[in-house]
Amino acid sequence: MPEFHRNIWYPFTILKEAPTPVKIERGDGLWLELEDGRRIMDCISSWWVNIHGHAHPKMAKAIAEQAEKLEQVIFANFTHDPAEQLAEQVTEQLPGDLNRVFFSDDGSTAVEVAMKMAYQYWHNRGQERKKFICFEGAYHGDTFGAMSAGERSVFTEVFDDLLFDVDFLPYPDTWIGDQTVAEREDEIITRLEQMLDEHPETYAGIMIEPLIQGAGGMRMCREDFLQKLHWVNRQFDTLLIFDEVMTGFGRTGDWFASRRAQVEPDLIALAKGLTGGFLPLSITVASDKIFEAFNSSDPIKTFWHGHSYTANPIGCAAGLASMQLMHENEPTFTEMERWHKEELHQLRDHPKLKKHRVKGTIAAVEIDNEGEDGYLNPVANRIKENCVDEGLLLRPLGNVLYLMPPYCTTREQLSEMYEGIKQLLE
Ligand SMILES: *Cc1c(COP(=O)(O)O)cnc(C)c1O
Repeated sequence: MPEFHRNIWYPFTILKEAPTPVKIERGDGLWLELEDGRRIMDCISSWWVNIHGHAHPKMAKAIAEQAEKLEQVIFANFTHDPAEQLAEQVTEQLPGDLNRVFFSDDGSTAVEVAMKMAYQYWHNRGQERKKFICFEGAYHGDTFGAMSAGERSVFTEVFDDLLFDVDFLPYPDTWIGDQTVAEREDEIITRLEQMLDEHPETYAGIMIEPLIQGAGGMRMCREDFLQKLHWVNRQFDTLLIFDEVMTGFGRTGDWFASRRAQVEPDLIALAKGLTGGFLPLSITVASDKIFEAFNSSDPIKTFWHGHSYTANPIGCAAGLASMQLMHENEPTFTEMERWHKEELHQLRDHPKLKKHRVKGTIAAVEIDNEGEDGYLNPVANRIKENCVDEGLLLRPLGNVLYLMPPYCTTREQLSEMYEGIKQLLE
């Protein structure tokens, strides 16, 4: 029987089935040290947040210094340097006129804020646009709006009656050797054009995880698709919302997926990598056009939203330190795609693997087993149970096995991860 701490309710855990959680004593770069002294490589940056590795001394120092100076202050009618500097530095790296930063606490709230802004934008302009277009397989978080916008699954089933309607389009995921993607993209774009043509002034926005759907199974799409989406969005005057909560901060091999795809969304949600995995903080960045629709003395046009810890100064200081490390680590996060490709090439004929794919720092393969594809595929549990003995922290999404290492990972360490995976597959 698993032994859970009697006072803790763990997330995403089937209580009667899951193994006893592994206790971690400390972290050091790529490594996590267990209670019994063993060390494992964190191959997934601990739920995709820890982009520079664990317990980075520069991050720890920045956080300690800020804690001694100003730990928290109300962020309405008051402001502070760390928030202002972080907003400047992030918007400098974002495409187009994404210039207005709204702070919140996690990916789900950053998405909620983006959806509320898009919805109210039309209201402020005298239009009632009540629907969103989203993508099959999407994951945008666990709050109600974010759940509504995501794929309906066992995660959301119980709450179905409380979720609002959105229209879903297929996500044109692709893999190495896929021949059908351009055709599938065109079908989706045609369907989108029809929807927008038949129902003008109905849709507040189109929301997508650009280039990679994360929790949906590391499903990757092409830059071309995002460019087509952008073009349609401009033609039909809707809003394009990029949920870059996971793809932001180097993950796709460029600072942002939007930058790699050379697309300028109207709203962008950022969270996971923002503080290098040290503190919970997120931002929603709006274009000048969006902001101007709220720039009024009319209370009904105001964006009434905020959280107690909005723009927490220690979180912002962590964000600033992480931005500094992003510059230092740029060679690694731009180079890692090539490393992954070299490694995946060796696995191309592996009898148990299919749909090999890479984008930036993320590589994924699907394990061909009898089970159904999807999050509850039993192969995931077997890997979760055995990976620690192989010296790896892995967390497959159903039968999708992926690597998302921090940017302190060396070429040799990446090879070791692939070696470990080969052992596990035996
Ligand atoms: C993780 C994730 C979220 C939710 O972020 P939380 O911080 O877990 O609330 C939203 N969108 C995407 C694409 C994510 O990967």
